[in-house]
Amino acid sequence: MGIQKITLLNLGRFDRNILEKISSAVHLEFLLKVEVIENHSDLTVFFDSGRKQYNGNSLLKMLEANFGNDESKTMALVTVDLFIPILTYIFGQAYLGGRTGITSSHRLSNERYGLEKDEKLFTLRIIKEVNHELGHCFGLIHCHQPGCVMQSSTYVEDIDQKETGFCSSCAEKLKTGINP
Ligand SMILES: [Zn+2]
Ligand SMILES: [Zn+2]
Repeated sequence: MGIQKITLLNLGRFDRNILEKISSAVHLEFLLKVEVIENHSDLTVFFDSGRKQYNGNSLLKMLEANFGNDESKTMALVTVDLFIPILTYIFGQAYLGGRTGITSSHRLSNERYGLEKDEKLFTLRIIKEVNHELGHCFGLIHCHQPGCVMQSSTYVEDIDQKETGFCSSCAEKLKTGINP
């Protein structure tokens, strides 16, 4: 028994419409069943009052403890701004080869950068970030192939340079990650 499915844990009250788009895009890349679980846990325990952001490491630990299981890779979707001690902010985080990950939409909207709202672009950015973090969950490291979703992203512009999918080399490694 390998990984049977991908679970999207809706911790950010994302609406049906966007969840469906994310689910089908994820299914397309990983060819696994995608399930959405609603969870409205209070995240204030992860809030760092000094940084006015949420602690990604602590949140990931909680996710692993409460939602980690061997049948599924679980990706939490949040709207809060995440940080880890060494970085100003992060778009997401996952353990390499781990069972859980997080994606934050906080810095993915155009409005955040004073630009006109673009729902399609916003959704596309979330999909890329979710696929990227799930890639880490399946054991993929950062890739230098232009366009590959496993390229690391520091700025939202970096995300826009990538495709939603994996380069042929990462796709090959992904198969091994899904069916070890
Ligand atoms: Zn990464
Ligand atoms: Zn790649």
